[in-house]
Order: sequence, then structure tokens, then C-alpha cells
Amino acid sequence: MKTQNCPNCARAHDVSGLADGHELPCACGTRFPVRGLERSPVASLDAGVDATVVRPSLPVGGSPGMMTGPVAEGSLVSTAVELPGYELVRVLGRGGMGEVWLARQKSLRRMVAVKVLPPRLAKDPEFVTRFDKEATALAALNHPNIVQIIDRGVAGEHYYFVMEYVEGRSLRDVMRELSPSEALRVALQVARAIESAHDKDIIHRDLKPENILLDGRGHVKVADFGLAGIRRPDSRLQLTATAVAMGTINYMAPEQRRDAKNVDGRADLFSFGVVLYEMLTGELPVGRFKLPSERVEGLDARVDDVVARLLENEPEARYLKAAEVCRELESLVSSTSLPPGMVQQHEAELSPVRSRLRSGWRKVRVVLTVLGGMVVVFAGARQVLGRPATLFQFGDKKVVLGTWGPRLTDADKPWPDNTDADLFVSSSVEELADGRVRLGVDFVQGEEELNAHAGTWTLENGQLRAMQGGNEAGGGQLIPRAYLSHRYFSSDDFSAEALMSASPLGKGYAEEPDAQHYAELSFRDTGLQVSVYAIPNAGMRLSWRYTDAGGEEVVGNSSQEVESLVQDETPVPVGPFRVKLQLKKKKNGVDVQAYISGASEPFARKFLEGFQGRSGKVAVGCRNLSCTFDDLVVRGVQTKKSAHDKVAETEQE
Ligand code: ADP
Ligand code: MG
Repeated sequence: MKTQNCPNCARAHDVSGLADGHELPCACGTRFPVRGLERSPVASLDAGVDATVVRPSLPVGGSPGMMTGPVAEGSLVSTAVELPGYELVRVLGRGGMGEVWLARQKSLRRMVAVKVLPPRLAKDPEFVTRFDKEATALAALNHPNIVQIIDRGVAGEHYYFVMEYVEGRSLRDVMRELSPSEALRVALQVARAIESAHDKDIIHRDLKPENILLDGRGHVKVADFGLAGIRRPDSRLQLTATAVAMGTINYMAPEQRRDAKNVDGRADLFSFGVVLYEMLTGELPVGRFKLPSERVEGLDARVDDVVARLLENEPEARYLKAAEVCRELESLVSSTSLPPGMVQQHEAELSPVRSRLRSGWRKVRVVLTVLGGMVVVFAGARQVLGRPATLFQFGDKKVVLGTWGPRLTDADKPWPDNTDADLFVSSSVEELADGRVRLGVDFVQGEEELNAHAGTWTLENGQLRAMQGGNEAGGGQLIPRAYLSHRYFSSDDFSAEALMSASPLGKGYAEEPDAQHYAELSFRDTGLQVSVYAIPNAGMRLSWRYTDAGGEEVVGNSSQEVESLVQDETPVPVGPFRVKLQLKKKKNGVDVQAYISGASEPFARKFLEGFQGRSGKVAVGCRNLSCTFDDLVVRGVQTKKSAHDKVAETEQE
């Protein structure tokens, strides 16, 4: 049976018995001409690498995971390849030109990536030339955003070249997890890679998310110069006659679809525009597409101009040089480098919650009156449920607030001995235009309830202070934490920031040898938590724990997962420092970012699949340290607690 893959979705079609030029309809909605039936079976076997056939691409609107169609046997490298000086470990990826292997370079004892041309393709001089051309192009390029070539050779019937190993994922895999500002940052690096290649007269011609690799730190490495063309007239590596209609149709410039041989760098700019559009919107720009800011709320509309110009049908209407695109993106990246909320955070630093409370006193009074009412209602409800009246802790004195509850004896207390009480704090609530609220919490005696347990929690001079020593979490006892009691926020859109400090415990606290030490800001509910931890002498951490839709527990922290760390280990600053935890819903999950001290880059981040639509409370915690918390600001959508939630006060770790 002779097969040919659909150029759009890579489905295999039986073409035996059909004449060249016969139009075949495909289930994905496109029609394509049967081609190359008279060619050698080698060339037509592979999933679209036949030089006269358009290379396979992603199905429009289909599964992005589907990279190529079924690769016919014989276009693959056998597992028993022996390359002198290298130990092949496993296949990293497959594309139109064979396989890329993870390998160990014995002489330098390091991991490398080796691209091997399968012997059957190596019989076709066309492929050998192209393979050679890719190695030559890579050798001419030396740029931090382009995969570096190390060596090349032939072993028996295997042509191969060796590259630096990019330990990470392709842009295809991470695309849906990127926020707009990250997408712009990635885009800028890709644009710089293109600029550098164009400077050497090298056109990539196959820019697409699969060929853009990201290492564990988010650095971009453009790969796969397998279709690259060199524009210099004297070059031996001119585009070949058969290099027609190659590339990947969804990302291909209109002129490249017509005549791939004669394109210039502006074709790469078009492909880059498609990638940028897809990164920002999650969709391909097909037909009369909407501009990114029309699809993504809050996106800087200047991005639209860049995208629109990159996606112009006529190359003349696009940018002339990649350098211009880099400049545009640089200015966008620098002005969007503060993620939403961070700008306000700076404002908050200048005018702390306290002064806002003072200046907006009239409004606050109204809010406090309402909240005061709420507290009474809650306290009443708790009494009905047999729960105690609310206590207020000041220093080491416990004071019963209000007259609604009986004075408690120790024996009446439903909470463990190491649990203190509820504290009251002042707050101001602002309705934000987008349906969210901004809640500023001031740690002075007021009327919003803060439920604290384990340790000594006090309100002192407008700060929340906590001292806790020993491993109280052991033996089923409570861990030191204070919750903003009755407010639940949605995990879809949430940010909380606070000024915190952590210092060693004073005298009189016994420390156990394996004691944990931390100050914490978190989004929590029973069975779920996302927290920013400051662990003196260790570093800042983002940690998470929840049960996903399939019932699997997802647990981890940024020190264990290289991918979650944006930068190198961030030390805990000395003195009060601001931490921020931000949750934003993305497709199929929530992107979590943790910031410190107004930095424009998060120090850690994590995509939590299936974490959308959860509800959680804001909590601060302190363990085996003396901590202070101040200027707590929360922005988010208030919601009801989820059904699975138990009373958070009884939560165990
Ligand atoms: P093809 O020309 O066959 O498409 P690529 O050069 O695109 O080959 O490589 C195929 C896949 O192999 C890539 O999508 C990527 O997943 C993986 N890969 C390629 N080069 C490297 C590298 N240097 N480090 C890690 N993975 C790589
Ligand atoms: Mg590729």
C-alpha cells in the first residue's frame, strides 16, 4: 500500500492506484494533491519528508500533542546505532529528518543530543545534502538562543551530528502555561535567535513551537535548521530545487507556500508571528482572526500592532528586519515585566494599608460596621454549633470579646492546648472594576476575624507577631498558622502579598533537632495548599499539595523541581521583605507564581493542572521562629468554600 500524509493533519491516506495530482479530501477538512508517486519509495515512506510534499503540521484546532503522523518503518534509526565516542541513551524526539537521541559524550562525560539520519533516508542524496546543510548552518551560528552544534560525522551508514543537550521541553509543551508577559519574554528570545541567523544570511524556514526548545530556566534555544536556506549567492548551500513547499503549513508564510525556494527572512517573521499569536491566544491565526488583545483580556494592545505586522500577507508590509521586531518586543517586555498586580504592589509599598485605612476612614467605617455584624452572626452560629465564643489574645492574656458567649474554661476548649484563639484585625475592602475585590488587612484591633492556632499570636503596633517553637505538628496537633477566617477566594484569580520577617526564637523555646523553620503566606483549604515559604538558612520556596481531578495527590516544591524554579535559589532576605503569591487560571489549570520584594520575575512558578475552580483561605504561618506580618493585601474573586471543605480550624498537616 502506498500512503501519503495529509499536509495539514498528517493523517495517512492510501494513495495506491491514484495518479499524481489527484485531489484527496481529508477528514480534517483540507484537500491535497497526491504527489511524488513516481518517486522512490524511500522518499514517500516518511511522514511527509518527501521533498515534494509539504511537511506534516498540526491539525488546525486539533490536539497540539500530535506532532507527526505515523512514521513508516524504515525511516527510523535502529536502536543498535553505534557512534564512536558516544553512548546513545534514549530518543528525545522524532521529526521529519530522523531521530534526536540523548547521548553521553564519553570524552567529556556530559550529556549531548545527537541527530541521526536514518540509513534509508541517507540513501537519498537529497536528504544527505539537507542534513549536511543543517549541520553547516548550525556551525555558522553562535548565539545563546540557538542550539549549539558540537560535532558531526558518519558511522557506517549513519550520518549524525552532535548538539548541546537542551534539558527541558519544547514550546509546544509549555505554551498553554505561559502568561502573556512570559510569552513575550520567550518571543523576544526567539526573535533574537532569528535576528542572529538572518545576520548570517540563514533563514530557518520551519519555525514552529516544536522546534523552539526551552531549558529548565526558561531560556530559549531554537533548533531544527533542517530546512534552513542560505541566501548568499556564492553559497554552496543555496536552497535546492526540491526544497519547494517545505515547512509546516500552519506556520508558513503565504509566499513560502507558493515558492519556498525564493523566500527571504520575512518568511521567518511570518512564522514567528503565528507562533507569537498562538502563545498569546492558544489558537492559530486562521481566516479573519481577532487580534490578541481582543481575545485575551488585559493584554497590552501594542502587542496587536506587532502581531498584525508580522502576519501581513505581503512580505513588503511586514518588518524588514528581525532587529526591528526585537526592539518592539524589548519595549513591550520591559513595560509588562511587572505582572498584573505588581504595579499596585509598589503603590501599596508607598502607601501601606494603614495609611489607606486612615485616608479612607469613612468608607472603612461602613465596611467595618458590616463586618462587625458578620462577626456577630458567625460567632452566634458557632455557639449554636456548640463552638466557643471568640477570644481575643493580647500578649499572653486571653480576653473574651462580646457578651454572647460563656467564659471558657480550659476544659471547654474544643481546640488543642497549643491553639490560641481568634484575633481581630481591621480591614478595608475595595470593589475592583473587574469583579474582584482588594482586601487590605491591617493588624490592629478591629473586626475581621483571624483564626490563629499553635504558637503565640499577638497584634502589636500594627503588626501581627507570631512565636512558635517545637514540633507541634507531630502527634496530630495543629500547626502554627493564622487564617483570615471567613473569606474564601477562588484559585482562578488570586493574589496575596504581605510584608514578613523571620528571626530566630528567643530564649525559653526548646527546639527539636529536626525542627522545621519557616514563615509562610498561603492559599489553603482542607486538603489543598499553595504556599510561599521563607526558610531562613535555606531559601525561598513555592510549595503545593492538592488532589487532582483523578484523585491523585499532587505534592511538590520548587526546591525539588528544577522546572518550577525561575532563578537560582533565592535566599531569604534579612529584615522585613515582601512576598507575593499569585494564582491565575490558564487552560486546564492554574499558573502559580511567587515573587519576593517587588522583583519583576517570580522566583518560582508552577502550573497546577486541574487546580482551577478551587476555593481557599488566606493564611500566614510561622514555625520555630519569631515572625512578623504586616500590610497584607489580597486581590481576588471571593467565593464560597468548596463542599469538601471541613472547618479549617481543625486542619492538620
Ligand atoms: P526534525 O528535523 O526531525 O524535526 P528536530 O531537530 O526538530 O528534528 O528534533 C526533533 C525533536 O528532538 C525536537 O522537537 C526536540 O524535541 C528534540 N531535540 C532536538 N534537538 C534537541 C536538543 N539539542 N536537545 C534536546 N532535545 C532536542
Ligand atoms: Mg523539528
